[in-house]
Amino acid sequence: MSALRTVEEHLAAVLAGVTPLDDFRQPLLDALDLACAEDVVADVALPRFDNSSMDGYAVVQADVVTASDEAPVRLPVVGEIGAGMGADAVTRLDPGTCAKIMTGAPLPEGADAVVPYEWTDRGAPEVWITRSPATGQHVRYAGEDVDHGDLLVEAGTRLGPRHVGLLASVGRAGVRVRPRPRVAVLSTGSELREAGTPLDDDADRDAIYDGNSWLLAAAVRRAGGIPLRVGLVPDRPDAFLRVLREQRGRADAVITSGGISMGDWDVVKEALSGGAGDDHDVWFGGVAMQPGKPQGFGHLLHGGTEDRPPRRVPFFALPGNPVSSYVSFELFVRPALRRMMGLAPESHVPVTARLTHRVTSPPGRRQFLRGALTVATDGSGAQVEPVGGPGSHLLGDLASSDALIVVPEDATVLEAGADVTVLRLDQD
Ligand code: AMP
Ligand code: MG
Repeated sequence: MSALRTVEEHLAAVLAGVTPLDDFRQPLLDALDLACAEDVVADVALPRFDNSSMDGYAVVQADVVTASDEAPVRLPVVGEIGAGMGADAVTRLDPGTCAKIMTGAPLPEGADAVVPYEWTDRGAPEVWITRSPATGQHVRYAGEDVDHGDLLVEAGTRLGPRHVGLLASVGRAGVRVRPRPRVAVLSTGSELREAGTPLDDDADRDAIYDGNSWLLAAAVRRAGGIPLRVGLVPDRPDAFLRVLREQRGRADAVITSGGISMGDWDVVKEALSGGAGDDHDVWFGGVAMQPGKPQGFGHLLHGGTEDRPPRRVPFFALPGNPVSSYVSFELFVRPALRRMMGLAPESHVPVTARLTHRVTSPPGRRQFLRGALTVATDGSGAQVEPVGGPGSHLLGDLASSDALIVVPEDATVLEAGADVTVLRLDQD
């Protein structure tokens, strides 16, 4: 048996085997949650022009500087300026006059401050002013928020609602982003049946419902991809290869579960092992972890001509036990999908928490136990309680956990009270 890869070695091999998908221009709303693929520079300033931040009167500040309750200043009101009034608005102000101005409306040339309504008798055609603004007060100057040439969004930023709003505000209707990867997900196993079908036939005596393709398809969607759930494939290499050849043409990546351990009918391994083949190049081996020791990763080759090499479609062969396939997805597939989307691959923020109960772990393997994390509000920190046992078939326990407890390779026992690293699940 060849040496096991470490978790880091396998992750590095996986990440080296995926590249960001080609970017394309999307309308703004469709770009939400995707990675920006261009440095967006402002070619419109924000504000676009000097404008008022209050409803009031645009003035020459020197005219009203002495204004007080005891000695109000009286000015003629020469006209109005409302937001969007365009050419109908007052655009120039002579000293000794003022103009009504509304929030957001452009400051007329010559004016250098705004007196809010509250400091006046709101009069027209003459207004009494009882208090003076400072020069520039209640004026929002052109470019004070965003200037021409400012870098608004850096390539690689995952676009959120605030970025979308900013891009629209500088007049951008679309932006270049990396697309969501389309990921084919299929489960192998002759024992598997579709959810929704009854299992009361004699032939279904040893059948089980397929959970993995649903679990993995849901995880793909959570990670930002588009799952193409293919469903079930029996443990027959010919049938398996046929489905794989159908899928590699329409998918940016393919995930299978099951059929990669030491059993007699391990279909994925049987069909694809032997290293580089005509239309595939897949590594199978062991990773020093529990659950998820058997792993396969490589590429399905598709198309290609004499002048053009075939497309290399990343291929993940995950173990069949549901907990193993889920943990494998979180550790290896999710980072890879993130890289394909143009995002930084690391996704789980590791936190340190105090273990509530003693746990044991096999030597030489990094164990990922399911846990329930609580973060105390009294400042005493985070603690994590193991949920269920280490068995990789314990899907019920997996569903009621919200974290993975990481037990290092060299630890065989961690006592209650020990500090452990915890990977939070479902954080984005
Ligand atoms: P395998 O690696 O194919 O031998 O599968 C390991 C274990 O996981 C077996 O008990 C399988 O029945 C189970 N298993 C494999 N695939 C699935 C699946 N899609 N849904 C639920 N259990 C599965
Ligand atoms: Mg199987």
